[in-house]
Amino acid sequence: MISASIVAVQISIAKTVSGIVMIARKSGDMGILDLLFGTEKDNYPSGNTADFTQDKVIIYKGELEYISRCILDYPNIETGGNLFGFYTATHIPFIQYVLGPGVNSEHHNIRFTQDYAFFNLNADLLIKEHALHHIGVWHSHHKLGIDQPSSGDAASMFNGMKTDRVDNFLLIIGNIVKKTNAKAYNFSLPNKSYQYCQWVVLDGESPIRLQFDKKHKNVIHEPKTNEPIMELIQSVPLYGEAQKSLTYPEGYWLNDKSNNAELKVIVDTIKNKYSNVSFYIQEEDKTLGISIKDADKYDIAFPLKFPNVPPVIQHNNKILKDFGWGKQSPISTRFLKYCIKGSIL
Ligand SMILES: [Zn+2]
Repeated sequence: MISASIVAVQISIAKTVSGIVMIARKSGDMGILDLLFGTEKDNYPSGNTADFTQDKVIIYKGELEYISRCILDYPNIETGGNLFGFYTATHIPFIQYVLGPGVNSEHHNIRFTQDYAFFNLNADLLIKEHALHHIGVWHSHHKLGIDQPSSGDAASMFNGMKTDRVDNFLLIIGNIVKKTNAKAYNFSLPNKSYQYCQWVVLDGESPIRLQFDKKHKNVIHEPKTNEPIMELIQSVPLYGEAQKSLTYPEGYWLNDKSNNAELKVIVDTIKNKYSNVSFYIQEEDKTLGISIKDADKYDIAFPLKFPNVPPVIQHNNKILKDFGWGKQSPISTRFLKYCIKGSIL
């Protein structure tokens, strides 16, 4: 069934942080915290039918490149489109074909509206010829620096899902700095929440695109930009322990399992004080970072030589000088004292 309401909604950006966004933060964090601390969660198929909201999305590399090329066509305003595919037997969404913007779509600074006739024509063909389903939408936040759904996005998604009686629907948010990135979120209407998803990237081109684009040259959208420029995408295995995909550099403090307990104390204390906390692995050196986006914005990096050297802390994008990294033990005590000294905690 075509989800007409979701395609037609105008997705806007609200500047305030809503309760819904906080839920997303939390579930996103849970993903990386699971990676950091390990998890009891079994990623293999199970008989548990309580919640089908998966935290992985399967996609061909070629489709991510297609999104990148579309975003590069509109570096300063929103663009977007639709996602076609199906769900695996274990309810993991599998994107087979990404639809770009139609000629009559509306591109604005903080809004994108798909060309409905274009969507409808392509959707009919994709359903008829390949039995694909409309499983999600995507749009770019270009240089707005927001890599997650805005509260307006979330409201549009839930409204559309309610109207179309769809329990799960995907939203991909694109961004561009020098390179593009694309982050996927799986919305669940029954849970009134959404989940940040990791990519399971399959090599090469989608076989559907190879056939469909050749056959429907006059129907499809071909981006003007020929070459994608994408940030490195971390792909996780389809099944198995996600934990295995997280490896730190040699000698890093978190390779010592006893330090996970120290990190847990640090994480719990920070989350106690701040609402918008997220965790990331730095692409360059695979070290851990913590990002705080409350009224005050902090970025805390744990460098390769931590705890022999202090964490690198940025406050509202300015690096703070070392204000006396102590020698106390354990590490969590030293870190927390340091943060208290710097008025971060
Ligand atoms: Zn948006």
